Amino acid sequence: MASEKGGGGLEEGLVFGYAIGVKTSCNSSTRRPAMQLEVKTILNRIQHFVGFVYQDVRLHGGHIGQPWLTITLQAHKGIRGRCSECRRPAPGYDRLAQRHWLFVPLWGMPTWFLYAPRRVECLDHGVVVEHIPWSEGKRPVTLAMMGFLARWARRLSWRETARAFQTSWEAVYRSVEWFVKWGLAHRQLEAVHSVGIDEIHWGQGKRADQFLTVIYQIDRHCRRLLWVGRRRTQATLRGGLKELGPQVIGGLRYICSDMWQPYLKVMAQKAGHALHILDRFHIVQHLNHAVDEVRRAESTRLRGKPLADRLKKMRWKLLRRGSRVRGQARLKLWGLLESKLATGRAWDLKECFEYFWHYKSIYWAGGFLDYWTERAMRSRLEPMKRVARMLRKHEELLFNWFKAKGEVSSGAVEGLNNKIRVVTRRSYGFRTYQAMELALYHNLGRLPEPESTHRFC
Ligand SMILES: [Zn+2]
Repeated sequence: MASEKGGGGLEEGLVFGYAIGVKTSCNSSTRRPAMQLEVKTILNRIQHFVGFVYQDVRLHGGHIGQPWLTITLQAHKGIRGRCSECRRPAPGYDRLAQRHWLFVPLWGMPTWFLYAPRRVECLDHGVVVEHIPWSEGKRPVTLAMMGFLARWARRLSWRETARAFQTSWEAVYRSVEWFVKWGLAHRQLEAVHSVGIDEIHWGQGKRADQFLTVIYQIDRHCRRLLWVGRRRTQATLRGGLKELGPQVIGGLRYICSDMWQPYLKVMAQKAGHALHILDRFHIVQHLNHAVDEVRRAESTRLRGKPLADRLKKMRWKLLRRGSRVRGQARLKLWGLLESKLATGRAWDLKECFEYFWHYKSIYWAGGFLDYWTERAMRSRLEPMKRVARMLRKHEELLFNWFKAKGEVSSGAVEGLNNKIRVVTRRSYGFRTYQAMELALYHNLGRLPEPESTHRFC
């Protein structure tokens, strides 16, 4: 596309300078003649590196195939290079061969920085390569390009990002890695009062490796992913708490989690001062699982009989909150209830438990819980009885929900879980666990970003 621009007259390596200029309009009313804007001017404005000058900008190729740009940099004559170890100015030693770094594509053309680095003789570190402000380590990609790719990798999948900007998946991965590491090292972990702890299933199969433990901050002022680790054992959670540090743990007031025993144990040991709450969303989930189990068993039992029709296509209607089911679906649910089928009774029990959350006093909520568990125990529905036993066992944690009322939002953990699913399901082409972990921090960690003089996207 861009190759059309120069017509047939584009020679390889045509000096860019004034050839393709953009007219600046700001000075049009003054006496000065219309100026042509140089690429170098833009570069100096958005990315000026002290001690270096942009020497020239060249366009290559163009007749056949993709054109590309090179931007050559030079060291400023009067300014000494800096030692890459200590960043202090040091006398020059010699000059190495020219290297190149991938820069943000201009007009959709791959763009490279070219520069022959000097070696300097530092008093403390001996002869070392100078510090190069647009690059980090030995990576052949500029920091500007890494930031550019990392930001796009939040909006597109990594593969799409690589394709859109004509680079490799590896380059996107390295960019996100750099971005996230910088963010984790610079994030502030103050005022973390409420956390949610949960397990997330990832990938295929039910092996221990397919689960993640996540720690969220679920304060009203800030909801984010604080930590993610592989597996869902006590050791996993201990590792996570250790990484967050004693200051964060000491400042906790509320902890939300499921009834998963390893988590309950570790949190009681490590953060006994905080109020541990069973998450409403998880309890609803347990009830839904139980209802579904009853439905599956019953439809197997009734196979071939006329009553079986009542259970057809009912799964999602049964699992939604009853008050949100409307119209035809609602009528079907009422029909099921009247039929006295086990599934109908299980659904009724589940719906009835909704009242529990509306109590204001723990005393009356306790009375309700007694009533409900008794009803469930007499229901002859084993999955429902199991939930009742579980709730009884964790009664104290369940009542903590009323003590923390208004302080902890019951939807926060669920909301963040859903966001995690979006990230893990969107085809990012994660080949490894590490890549997925990076993507989760990148999308949900609300990490600070490396400072740069210009945002390219
Ligand atoms: Zn040094």
